[in-house]
Amino acid sequence: MEIGGNKILLEDDERKLFLDFGYPYSKYRTYYEEYLKPRPGAGLLDLLVMGLLPHLEGIYRTDLETGGLWRQIRQAEHHRRLEDIGGVLLTHAHLDHSGHISFLNEDIPVYSTATTAFIAKAIQDSGRADFDQQVCYFTPRAEECLKGWKQGAYVASSSGDRQRRFCVAERSRLTEGAERFWREVIRHKKLDSQSLDDIDTCSFNLRCFPVDHSIPGACAWGIETSSGWLIYSGDLRLHGKRGNLSEAFMREATRLHPRALVLEGTNVDRRTNVSEQEVYENALGAIGDARGLVIADFPARDVDRLLTFLQIARDTKRKLAILPKDAYLLKTMRLLEPDIPDIAEESAIVLYQETTASKTPAQWLKKTYEEYFGKVVLAKDVASNQSDFILCFSFWDLNELPSIQPRTGSLYVFSSSEPHNEEQQMDFWRLHHWLEHFGLRGFGLPVQRNGNWEIPEEEKGLHASGHACGPDLLRIAREIRPETLIPVHSEKPEFYTDNLGGSGIDIVLPTEDGTVEI
Ligand SMILES: [Zn+2]
Repeated sequence: MEIGGNKILLEDDERKLFLDFGYPYSKYRTYYEEYLKPRPGAGLLDLLVMGLLPHLEGIYRTDLETGGLWRQIRQAEHHRRLEDIGGVLLTHAHLDHSGHISFLNEDIPVYSTATTAFIAKAIQDSGRADFDQQVCYFTPRAEECLKGWKQGAYVASSSGDRQRRFCVAERSRLTEGAERFWREVIRHKKLDSQSLDDIDTCSFNLRCFPVDHSIPGACAWGIETSSGWLIYSGDLRLHGKRGNLSEAFMREATRLHPRALVLEGTNVDRRTNVSEQEVYENALGAIGDARGLVIADFPARDVDRLLTFLQIARDTKRKLAILPKDAYLLKTMRLLEPDIPDIAEESAIVLYQETTASKTPAQWLKKTYEEYFGKVVLAKDVASNQSDFILCFSFWDLNELPSIQPRTGSLYVFSSSEPHNEEQQMDFWRLHHWLEHFGLRGFGLPVQRNGNWEIPEEEKGLHASGHACGPDLLRIAREIRPETLIPVHSEKPEFYTDNLGGSGIDIVLPTEDGTVEI
């Protein structure tokens, strides 16, 4: 059991669906790191042999699965031939839920909200999109034997990228601009354009419930099976800015009298939550009387947090300097949610231009800088007017600091979660050294005490988690009142068994590769 990497197969006689098909982060980390990765040239072999993908023959992209592949693999205990998957119900665009869609056969459609589909495309357009994170479109590979090579490898073909079929809730509400974005060729040579479909094309009767999480567009799913309704929560919270969405989900799911609820349990150990409003107040308190530069470090794609810092920028008469990938995401979001500010019109937002060594920057990057040309600021602009900016940087952007050279006493506000593993602890160790080097004052930053990394008591409350705390999760379970509760996405699923005894809800803990019958 781990947090992240959800892949759940739902079978109802002949009909089959996946509930998310995510990238299993902690399992990856067991074997791999930044410079030790599965070999793209080996197709699916590494992932299957190392147990990172389930041994389900027939569900994967045929360009990564030539005739010999399955013969090379020792038959795993859970090997199965599986055909006619009706689709993947994707809950949101975090890679631990979406990443491994990259490997699925392109005939398998992805069901999601329009926002999730668009964010997945924006992430891929503007990111590195390694071969194991090509969710929306992918570069087909062909097994070829290069001249002089003794053995073949899966090499990227030059025939152009292929787009996956997405079926989105409320398809008819998409504007023409949104449709254009979906078809737009940003980084790929050629795209066989696939239209978007509606979720009612699914062989199951589906309900898509928008919920609140730390990325826009998250949803829970209701699936009508021959044994009754199954509800899958995805990741959710009640304490966020759009907590009313999660509350509405609970009410509507309750009305379906579900046979089963598959519920997340990331934060079962937390007793309380910090709200986004508290984040705003605490961060404003810290930034309000700051002199010099302010750097705000918050999770990627957390648009709510970006808007919180935008408000603080307005309140403190600073400019929020965002990176081009954030600008690209905001622009994409605005196609679907007109409440998202228009960068061109919003006087408190500017675009920070990173130093590049490429003569031919990526298409999306060029277009973004062109579109907001008048709003672009350079390191030297920030360097010479440090108290005018809140710079949206994370750990990965620190290498820009030698161009800025923050004044002593500048502030680094950390508005994200504590380290969860040794690699992240190592990153924090480096971050502290960067701050020390430039004389930056950290605020809300985890520090090492007696071997643990913790945020000092007086600097807490700068991060609202994307996940509901223990008492909220129990409330969700009790209100929806399924006959059976199946906890997922948790390191302590027994929390539910311990706390829901006598509630009339039957708790079934799932196992990896195991089956729960309902
Ligand atoms: Zn998530």
